[in-house]
Amino acid sequence: MPNPKQVTEKLFQSPQKYIQGPSAIQNAARYLETLGKKPLLTCDAFVHGIAGKPLIEALQSHTFNVTHVEFGGEASSQEVGRLSDIGRKEGNDFIIGLGGGKTIDCAKAVASELSLPVAILPTTASTDAPCSALSVLYTPNGEFDRYTFFNTNPSIVLVDTSVIAKAPPRFLAAGMGDAIATNVEARLCKHSPNFGGGLPTEVSVAIGQKCEEILFQYGRQAYEANKAQVVTPALEAVIEANTLLSGLGFESGGLAAAHAIHNGFTAIESLHVLLHGEKVAFGTVAQLVLIGTPTETLDKYISFMLSVDLPVTFALLGIPDVTDEQLRKVAKLAIAPGETIWNMEGVITEDSVFWAIKGADAAGRDFIARTGGRKEY
Ligand SMILES: [Zn+2]
Repeated sequence: MPNPKQVTEKLFQSPQKYIQGPSAIQNAARYLETLGKKPLLTCDAFVHGIAGKPLIEALQSHTFNVTHVEFGGEASSQEVGRLSDIGRKEGNDFIIGLGGGKTIDCAKAVASELSLPVAILPTTASTDAPCSALSVLYTPNGEFDRYTFFNTNPSIVLVDTSVIAKAPPRFLAAGMGDAIATNVEARLCKHSPNFGGGLPTEVSVAIGQKCEEILFQYGRQAYEANKAQVVTPALEAVIEANTLLSGLGFESGGLAAAHAIHNGFTAIESLHVLLHGEKVAFGTVAQLVLIGTPTETLDKYISFMLSVDLPVTFALLGIPDVTDEQLRKVAKLAIAPGETIWNMEGVITEDSVFWAIKGADAAGRDFIARTGGRKEY
């Protein structure tokens, strides 16, 4: 039920600064020195090789004293505790999270635990995690645990587009899967409190719309630019849509069924190899089916997903033999109390969600059969 507490205030929140460009890491010191001089920087070993080293060098040449700690790989309470202990011992004055969604979520939680500011430097545009004041925590073996909320958004989000251009295009596509859900979900949540506890403002609605517009205009072109490892205006636009617009749009707009179904999917072990946005993409089609979207409109979304290799069928998700029993479990989790599906207007039952998930697969298969997989939109 949307808005059970009858909230009447509108609320919009965001990071203090968002910086994006092809030399952002090289120029990071001038932005980060407003936060302190002794950061705890966490990134995984792979990211350290491609972005960590240049960042640390850039900071050290400006007299920063960097504590580098390798990220353990999962945004779990245990990992947050481990990194927080190190930060306390070292006396760090701010946190830097460098990497993908899980590193970012973990860094935000550590900063909150230590009451320190955090700078988020995403190395992929694979999720809308960087800008928000919340993290998604998982169990150490990768199952959805809970959303955790912080008092403030990251102080700085700094995106080096030349690093993102070198990341696998699959990450950018997954980010588009997460970002295409933003407007689809937020437009059903106009009367439901957002993640900040207030109602959506006009600007959060406009951000969601702009995000979707950019993806339809530039998504495919950006995906190809990413394959060629070049920074083009299309890639810059999609990186901004995936990171800034999707981040602001979901947090101050609201999530609905697409993310709830994504969370349900984490119960299927074999889907753990998929990225967040890949599952959200399928969840978005399922939500569109759930609310009775006309075929012409549904086709536009399915066509977009396929143009950037996002999954719209069980087979493309890698679960061609998924059973009704498993899908029932997904539906049950998607309608758990407190899930974002309850932000939506309309009647939601386990049956309707189960049918929508199967309906999404059917619509995806039908689209591919009708069009050979792609259609101009
Ligand atoms: Zn998401």
